[in-house]
Parts: sequence; C-alpha cells; structure tokens
Amino acid sequence: MFANNLDTLLVYLKGVGPKRAELLQKELGISTYEQLLEHYPFRYIDRTRFYKVNELNPDLPLVQVIGRITGKETIGEKHKKRIVAKFTDETGTMDLVWFQSLKWVEDNVLRGKAYIAFGKPNFFNNGISISHPDLENYPRQAGITGNVTLQPIYNTSEKMKKGFLDSKGIQKMIQQIIELHINEVRETLPSYILEKYKLISKKEAIIHIHFPANTAMLQHAERRLKFEELFFIQLQLLHNKQLRSLKFKGALFNTVGDRVNTFYNTMLPFDLTNAQKRVVKEIRLDTQRGSQMNRLIQGDVGSGKTVVALMSMLLANDNGYQACMMAPTEILARQHYQSLVDLLKGELVNVAVLTGNTTKKQRITLHEDLESGKIDILVGTHALIEDKVKFKNLGLVVIDEQHRFGVEQRAKLWRKNIIPPHILVMTATPIPRTLAMTLYGDLDVSVIDELPAGRKPIETKHLFEGQRMRMFGFMKQEIAKGRQVYVVYPLIKESEKLDLLNLEAGIEQMRYQFPLPDYQISIVHGQMPNADKQYEMQRFIDGKTQIMVATTVIEVGVNVPNASVMIIENAERFGLSQLHQLRGRVGRGAEQSFCILMSGNKLSANSKLRLETMVKTNNGFEISEIDLQLRGPGDITGTQQSGVLELKMANLAKDQIILQEARNTVIDIFEKDKMLELPENSLLKTYLAKRTRAIAFDKIS
Ligand code: ADP
Ligand code: MG
Repeated sequence: MFANNLDTLLVYLKGVGPKRAELLQKELGISTYEQLLEHYPFRYIDRTRFYKVNELNPDLPLVQVIGRITGKETIGEKHKKRIVAKFTDETGTMDLVWFQSLKWVEDNVLRGKAYIAFGKPNFFNNGISISHPDLENYPRQAGITGNVTLQPIYNTSEKMKKGFLDSKGIQKMIQQIIELHINEVRETLPSYILEKYKLISKKEAIIHIHFPANTAMLQHAERRLKFEELFFIQLQLLHNKQLRSLKFKGALFNTVGDRVNTFYNTMLPFDLTNAQKRVVKEIRLDTQRGSQMNRLIQGDVGSGKTVVALMSMLLANDNGYQACMMAPTEILARQHYQSLVDLLKGELVNVAVLTGNTTKKQRITLHEDLESGKIDILVGTHALIEDKVKFKNLGLVVIDEQHRFGVEQRAKLWRKNIIPPHILVMTATPIPRTLAMTLYGDLDVSVIDELPAGRKPIETKHLFEGQRMRMFGFMKQEIAKGRQVYVVYPLIKESEKLDLLNLEAGIEQMRYQFPLPDYQISIVHGQMPNADKQYEMQRFIDGKTQIMVATTVIEVGVNVPNASVMIIENAERFGLSQLHQLRGRVGRGAEQSFCILMSGNKLSANSKLRLETMVKTNNGFEISEIDLQLRGPGDITGTQQSGVLELKMANLAKDQIILQEARNTVIDIFEKDKMLELPENSLLKTYLAKRTRAIAFDKIS
C-alpha cells in the first residue's frame, strides 16, 4: 500500500522492523523514508585507493586490499574460537580474522575466491591482520549505488550501534530506498534557478550525496543541497519581512521638528560620524514609508549607538509619538537614562525610567504620565513589557543588546500600540555577515563601522603568569594617575565553585599588592545578591573605588569613562567575542586605554591564535569573522538559542558565497514576483504555504 511513497514509515522497510525504527526515531528523529534520505553522511572514506599487502602497517587508517582467500581454519575453543583466513595478493599474505558470525563466515567466505577486503590493519603475532573486514566481491558490480568509491559514513549513536544500527546499516537502508524509490524524489527548486547556478537535480543530488560516483559528483551534490538549504531559509525570512511590511502599517515620522533640530543644532556636543549620519538617514527613510520599521544596528562598543537611538526617539516625539528604550539590566537601564538626560541637559523632552526597583508609588505616577502622554521617552528594563505599562501613543521601541530578549518579548512590545511601533534593535556584538543574513535576515541591518574621531585605539598586551608583577606595577602606575582598573575573571558554570576560589585567591593577592586605605576595591560576582552588586558597581561608577574585580557580569554595557585599564585573567578561557566585548569596557574616555590579557604559560594553538588576534586588532567585525572560523556558527554569541543554525549541509563559516547567491536569488524573485504568482515559481509558493500553515505568525515575527 505504501510501496511508492517517500512518506512511508521506516518500519515498513525490509529488514528494519519496529525496534530499529524506534531507535532511529528516538536517536535521530527520523521516521520516514524521506527523512532518512535527508540524513546525509558526515564524511566519506576514499575507496578508490587500494593498498598492497606489503604496504600495510598498523599506523594506517581504514584500508582496502584486493586479494584471494588462500586458506581458512577455525582456531581456539569457546569464547576464544575464531576463524582465521589467509588473504594473498602478488606481494604477500595477511590474516583476516573473525570472532563473531562464524557460521556466516564459514558458509560465505570462500577459498579461492577474489575479494576486496576493507578494514583497519593491526599488527598481531608478528604479522599484519584485519579483524572483521568488510568483504566485497571482486571485481565490483556497478549499479546506481553499486560502485561505491567514496564510502559514506553516517552519524550514529552508541545506542544505535548496540541495536546493530551502525553506519553500514544505515547505508544499506538508504541504498534500498534509493534503489526502489529514487524516481519519486521531487525537484524543489525551479528549473531556471538550476540552470542559472548550474545545480544538479534533487534526485541526482540525493544519489550522489549518499553514493558519490566520484569526488566531482560529490561536490556537485553538496553544492546543490547547500544552496537549497540556504535558499529556503532566505525565502522564508524575506517572505516574512515582506508580509510584515504589507500587513503592518507603521507610524509616519514625516516631520523633522523642533526637538530634533534643537538637539542637533544646539546640544549635540560633537559632530556625528559619517556612519552615524548614514544610519540616522536610513531610519528617517524607514519611518516615512508607512510600514513598520524593523532595523538592527550593529556597532562596536563605543561606536555611538546611543546618540543614534536618541535622535530616532526625538524624531518620534516630533511626530507626536512616544518612544521607549529597553536594556537588559537595571544598571544599564539607569545608565542609559542618565546618558539621555545628560545629552538633553534635562530639557526638551520628558524622560523617565522604569525598572524592577521603581517603587509602587513612583509607578502610579509614571503609569498615569505615560497614558496621558506626559512622558515622551521611557527607559527601562523588562519591566517595560508588563501589561500594566500602557502608552498613549507608542511609536518607536529601541532595544539595546538584542540577544538577551526573546522573540516572545519582542512580540509583546509590538502589541503595545494599535499600529505596531517601529523597532530599532541595537547590538554591540558584531556578527559576521553570513550570520547576520541568517539570524537577522528578516530585519534591515545598519552597520556603524566607524569610531568617533580622536578616539585612541586601546593598546592590548598579552602577558604570561610569570610576568604578573609587571602587570601589578602597571596597575599602580595607572591608578596613581587617577585612572580606574577592571580585573575580570572567567566564570564557567560547571565549575562555579572553583572559579570563585580562583577569584578569591586573586583578591587576596591583590589586597596584598594594594593595601587599604590607599586603595579601594569593588568586588562583583554572580553569586552575590543583586542589591550588593548594584552597590559595589555604583561605588566604582562614582569613583569611590579604584579597582573593580569582577566575574563576567560586567560584560554588557557598563560605562565608566575614567576606567582605562582592563585586565583579563585566564584570558585563554574566554572566546574571542567575549574578550573583545570585555575590552570594550575601556577606551571610553579621553585617556589612552589598555587591555592586558593574562594567561598561563602553556597555550593551545587555538588559544594562542585568539590572544594574538586580540593584540593585533580592535575591529569587532574582523574579530567576529575569525571567531566564526575558529568556533563554527553554533558558538557565536547570540546564536545559541536559534534553530536557524541547525543546518544539515551548509556551514555559515565556509559557505558564504553560496549563501550570498541564495539570498540574491530570493531578492530577485520577490522583486519580480512579489506574490509568487508566476508559474515558474509555483514550487516556491507551495513550499511557503505549507510552512506558513505550520508556524503561527507570532512565532516568526
Ligand atoms: P555604544 O555604541 O557602545 O553604545 P555610546 O553610544 O555609549 O556607544 O557612545 C560612546 C561614547 O562616545 C559616549 O561617551 C558618546 O557620547 C561618545 N560619542 C558618540 N558619538 C560620538 C561622536 N560622533 N563623536 C564623539 N564622541 C561620540
Ligand atoms: Mg551602548
């Protein structure tokens, strides 16, 4: 009944049965023929290379040898019982050994017959042998999947292997499905795209990804499948984006009024950088279109995102709308509030702040003032999202440090107004272009890739443990000049206790170097109550302490311009982006700033490269590219929770060109055929229709 359907459950495949089907489902989430066809090998063994018996040695990996069985005997008793066969070619003889399936070997491995033996060579009893070799008849028979030159190796798990489902088992299942059903594999990409990018058909790709005829065909198959994967992600993202702009009207900010003008002409203490001007202009254009803006601003720490946010909020105010700005922590929210008030010199508009610490009494007034429209700009933490917080007319939401907010929270903010407010997301974590295109592919992205003029680049040095006294000497010298210093320790969850000990030992040593009452030290770590953290940070911000010893809690956003030295302990334990992020805490004032990376004496090649990169460059985008190459996409800050990155074929660190092609193709398609009504795009329309039914709109917004 199911015989010609790729949706057939694997239980119905010959030789599978309920047990193995359940294993596949549990271990790999695979239950149908089609899903198994899309379980691609993760590597291949080259079976075009043949070894001679006299070339074998135990250091070789898996090898294959052509020979003839010239002898066969059963040796030993009970659990030591084994079959040893002599396997001979023109250069010599070796042993093939079996400890299991002896009956099968007895009946099927035939004296005098030629085979290709495949396996790992061992050295045993003064000779070379292979245990449990794969034996293939020689010469090989051809067929769609017969002529295996690159043997596929599939991911399996320990549990699967115990259930006799190893890579070879999966290969056999896939081979069966391909032989019986390959003609039912349907093309997913329109033919004009296949032609334009010279891609092979889906059917060919499936055959050659599992059973490549040769390396060239394997590459074709990989390219085709990568393109397809990235293409459909882009199709979905850009489709969502388009839907949003069709579906949601956006507030019109047509007027540049008194507030923007007064601020720009009389209050702004510096000239905007060209990058800042460009982004302000992009926001201006977005907010005059009549559709909702969803823009991401990427800019390194210190690139001046706050002013851009402020000008956008003033623009909202000039057009009769309120604006709000949301930060991930209390401290940051209060700092933002303070910077805005400072920039505005307490004039021009009404700015208020709302956090978890706002008292009930303050809240009552605040809620009233929001609803009456008396407050123009509200800065705050997650507290802003609560349903009780109602605006008179919210036109713009600025979200600082994007990745700390979930999609659900974003959606809640949208609902705070009848017309959803414009959304401006700001992140100080530069991410590589390929990641941005995928993670934020449905947003418009602006980049502030220029630091304000006259900023002195931070000087970074790497010191080893043995040079610690030099580091203390340097600290003293800078503190004597009136500067403040951060000392940061890594904190890794699994060993929190150990890390804390590490931190405490460090503090003890520091107390010895920097005795009271001349030096005051603030200490902040994750295990402290929030109020204590707050208190300690505040003392440092107010300049009452010279040294701030902290775990990575200080990573995001704290702004203390007088702090000009960042010391990172065990720097080899931090990722590149995190190091860069930490370094960004200094270099915010007029003084020359420094970053010192302390590390142990022994470093892995990878750690060494990370530290060298930090010493070499201050450019966050450059650093993020290197980070992506070193760690792969899964570990880059902000991407962890994103399902987008669970790619089967493509690798965002390596497949930048294919990604760009895929995205450009989608952009072209939507430009010419917004609703996908042309017959040549019908496949795409069907794909989206299926997916859209499966995902509620809120989830993808
Ligand atoms: P970030 O992008 O990290 O949020 P901020 O907005 O906090 O950066 O800006 C960092 C510092 O640079 C602030 O003190 C800000 O006033 C200052 N700044 C911003 N833009 C300029 C500029 N164009 N010229 C000089 N200083 C600037
Ligand atoms: Mg900032």
